[in-house]
Amino acid sequence: MVYRSWAEINLSNLEKNLKNIYEFSKKHIFAVVKADAYGHGAVKIAKFLENFKQVRYLCVATAEEGKELKEAGIKKPVLVLGGMLEEEIDIFNEYNLIPVISDFYHLKLIKKLRTKKIHIKFDTGMNRLGFYKKDIPEIVKYLSNIDVEGIMSHFPSADLDQNYTREQIKEFFLIKEKLKMMLKTKFKYIHIQNTAGTIYKCDFCNSIRIGIGLYGTKPFENFPVELKQVMTVKAKVISIKEIKKGSKISYTGSFTADRDMKVAVVSFGYADGLPRSLSNKGYFLIKGKKAKIVGNITMDMTIVDISDISNINIGDEVIILGEQITFDKVSKIANTIPYEIMCSISKRVFRKTIREKNETVINTCN
Ligand SMILES: *Cc1c(COP(=O)(O)O)cnc(C)c1O
Repeated sequence: MVYRSWAEINLSNLEKNLKNIYEFSKKHIFAVVKADAYGHGAVKIAKFLENFKQVRYLCVATAEEGKELKEAGIKKPVLVLGGMLEEEIDIFNEYNLIPVISDFYHLKLIKKLRTKKIHIKFDTGMNRLGFYKKDIPEIVKYLSNIDVEGIMSHFPSADLDQNYTREQIKEFFLIKEKLKMMLKTKFKYIHIQNTAGTIYKCDFCNSIRIGIGLYGTKPFENFPVELKQVMTVKAKVISIKEIKKGSKISYTGSFTADRDMKVAVVSFGYADGLPRSLSNKGYFLIKGKKAKIVGNITMDMTIVDISDISNINIGDEVIILGEQITFDKVSKIANTIPYEIMCSISKRVFRKTIREKNETVINTCN
């Protein structure tokens, strides 16, 4: 295969991020590899991460995502964060997936599960998935002969609202104590912290669920852990042309050249996952220099201004996202969040696994 666009997945950076986060929090890591590991390729990422003793669990969103990992030979336990539907029970049973029980609907299905091991989720302020504290007396009726291995909750605003988050931790503690008392059991894993949440003190919690941090994006600007972006997205120049002053560029003619210009057409468009809202706003890097996006981004191509960059040829590499053009920076220009851009990089963009930047290609995804 010959690729026009690809994403280099730097496993050395992934390893550094894992170790830095572990050193910072000293808690068991539940590595979140949902949504194809935030676009990085779930199987390759999970296979790499499961070798580390700090990683206790791999987390996915759906039963099918869990099945994909187990069929690829993943040995570490897989936790399905996004609930469980009755029609998924067979998948849970066949692949020994561990469910997050977060609804009375799940409790009624529990007897159909082969595994007796579950994690139970409480809602402390997200108001998405999870039981409330008041549900505990009713919940325990369903939990005889069940190994409640984990108890968990989730933060909606750990990066934004410290008071809200601290209140959630308090509420989670009370819930944990009450359930412990009523079940007369201890929980092996207690977890509420996502990447942003690791900055909060939570001594009764022994595990953290980490997604974005593993992939090297800080959840907020002053996040105190050094992280390196794992994915670098590149594409090739497919045409170069001179444009006369006054010419309109691309669909709708949203850009008019205010001088004679030189532009490059890059083989990367919104079908590859580039937000169309970057039209006339974003930029790529060519030969280490910024090349502004001019005109509307199209499905398969984007046009950039290379008037001030010399020696560019068809076939040259362009950096779409990387160390200097981070998901964080680009998401701000596109008025979205890095998560959304990361998991939008589409399957046309080949995933190439590397160890150290620009060194040996050890393996490939897909
Ligand atoms: C996605 C997810 C995470 C990971 O969050 P990050 O901000 O990427 O670290 C943790 N917990 C739950 C329940 C999630 O859905």
